[in-house]
Amino acid sequence: MRKVIIAGNWKLNKTSAEAITLVEELKREVVDVSGVDIVVCPPFTAINDVNECLIGSNIDLGAQNVFWQDSGAFTGEVSAPMLKHLGVKYVIIGHSERRQFFGETNETVSKRIRAALTHGLTPIVCVGENLAERESNKTFDVIKNHCEGSLVNLTAEEMSKIVIAYEPVWAIGTGKTATPEQAQEVHAYIRQLLARIFNTEVSQSVRIQYGGSVTPENIAILIAKPDIDGALVGGASLKAPSFAAIVKAAQK
Ligand code: PEP
Repeated sequence: MRKVIIAGNWKLNKTSAEAITLVEELKREVVDVSGVDIVVCPPFTAINDVNECLIGSNIDLGAQNVFWQDSGAFTGEVSAPMLKHLGVKYVIIGHSERRQFFGETNETVSKRIRAALTHGLTPIVCVGENLAERESNKTFDVIKNHCEGSLVNLTAEEMSKIVIAYEPVWAIGTGKTATPEQAQEVHAYIRQLLARIFNTEVSQSVRIQYGGSVTPENIAILIAKPDIDGALVGGASLKAPSFAAIVKAAQK
């Protein structure tokens, strides 16, 4: 049985003070929730303060990116050991915004995954097609390319430590959610790919989140699908009541 995982990607939002306010409220809202992994991914600047707020709570800490080198002359980068030291458990890797605006490729995604695993961080690896790719029936090709290109150097044991987030780019921040059927179709395809690249056991144990305009209103029908194991939430994670409502509705 795969445990549901709901992660909030705060993107470029929240000062440390705002982050503390959000997390204090969220802690109160989800205090009675069990059976769901709850993760918040603040910007780097708020990670330390958020970590202190989360001590003793049922919420885990994530980061939004990680560099592949541990240290050195890489101005502006943040490494896996640095994140680990701050109490970070998960790290989002290969988000479509990083592919779109910051030159992320399968190769750099793969290097970041390696660094995260080496230092005991759990990667949340994002894959997904854009609108033009969906409309030209290339969705499966893109998913195959993202999965094979970024997961290819891993052992089955390493793969079993990773979370995948299927995020159709056309659904991110647009209010246009994939239908549960569209999402389920791709999640099932990802599982088939994992079985082919690794093995059946791994494909059945890896958690696959859906991301793209998830709200308290649509989470229940998404999570009801057999291959959807949670959500990566952007906009709706910026307010404690909506993120908490998603977490509660996702309790299976
Ligand atoms: C995201 O940024 O990963 C995301 C899914 O955003 P939103 O929920 O706002 O569509």
